[in-house]
Amino acid sequence: MAGDFRALVVMKDDQGYRCEDKRITEADLMDGDVTVRVSHSTVNYKDGLAITGKSPVVRKFPLVPGIDFAGTVEASSDARYKPGDAVVLTGWGVGEVHSGGFAEKARVKGDWLVPLAAGLTPAQAMAIGTAGFTAVQAVMALERHGMTPDRGPAIVTGASGGVGSVAIILLARMGWHVIASTGRPEEAEYLRSLGAAEVIDRAGLSGPARPLNKERWAAGVDSVGSHTLANLLSMTKENGAIAACGLAQGMDLPTSVAPFILRGVALLGVNSVPLPRPARLEVWKRAAADLDLGKLMSTTRTIGFDRIVPTANAILEGKVRGRTVVDIAG
Ligand code: NDP
Repeated sequence: MAGDFRALVVMKDDQGYRCEDKRITEADLMDGDVTVRVSHSTVNYKDGLAITGKSPVVRKFPLVPGIDFAGTVEASSDARYKPGDAVVLTGWGVGEVHSGGFAEKARVKGDWLVPLAAGLTPAQAMAIGTAGFTAVQAVMALERHGMTPDRGPAIVTGASGGVGSVAIILLARMGWHVIASTGRPEEAEYLRSLGAAEVIDRAGLSGPARPLNKERWAAGVDSVGSHTLANLLSMTKENGAIAACGLAQGMDLPTSVAPFILRGVALLGVNSVPLPRPARLEVWKRAAADLDLGKLMSTTRTIGFDRIVPTANAILEGKVRGRTVVDIAG
């Protein structure tokens, strides 16, 4: 059909929940004021949930998954964007309730887009993607809380994952002594190459936590949640802070108030999805300025459209290291 293009489409009907590789047209896209020719997307943990249906992250059907993308404006009724502009999208429920980046075209609200940050290519922006954006946001939250490397080490959990890998790169660059917690000891060399000074076995943090334990770190970025986050809090130094952004181990948080009221520890929540535009622009600026792009690209592999679904399955099995960029035309 003239004007049709390639897209993954998630459907849920009498035949069940499924994700198909299809040809669709612009008429199949949802309302929006900017149409983007998507050049790159990424595979995040949430994309894994959306494609497999393992968690109900998709809440509108049919829907193109893909929670982030970079590309070029094709048409716009938003005065801020004109054809040819390079743009990036993360968050705002795209890939969950609004069709997203696993298609050659996307139509979204101009409010959700940001211009591609100076100094980044579309592929680099997607090597950062939602996971890296969240990691940078988490580090900025720690800094806003007054955390500096002279306070002690910083722990990063889910270290080999997307959020974890980018958090290590940035914290190390800012001068932190980074402790990487992983369930994959074979990735120790990789984690050191990103800047980790120590690599520890996540098993030591994944069981039930004592209310307080020996103080081991001043700050942390946690993408794991559950017992792991409880252990992080119980081992955080006086007046330290942990930025929590994920739930790879679980949504629960079996802790007590002890770290908060006896050590003044702060738990900082990080949600990249509805971050207002000015803060969003700040995060991208910081990512472009302070992430070591060479290291970032060393954590990143690029796949073609055909590999999105297998990668989505692998990421849920904890088998993906670092970041995965999708070359949509590839
Ligand atoms: P990845 O799958 O790339 O990384 C998650 C990592 O967590 C894995 O690589 C693994 O690291 C570790 N892990 C997996 N399962 C377990 C487990 N059962 N117990 C302990 N550790 C485990 O995902 P992302 O980095 O993309 O996302 C990480 C989390 O952050 C997800 O929960 C995601 O939903 C959330 N997130 C939240 C955002 C927000 O805005 N708040 C935005 C982006 C992501 P290792 O093998 O090294 O132990």
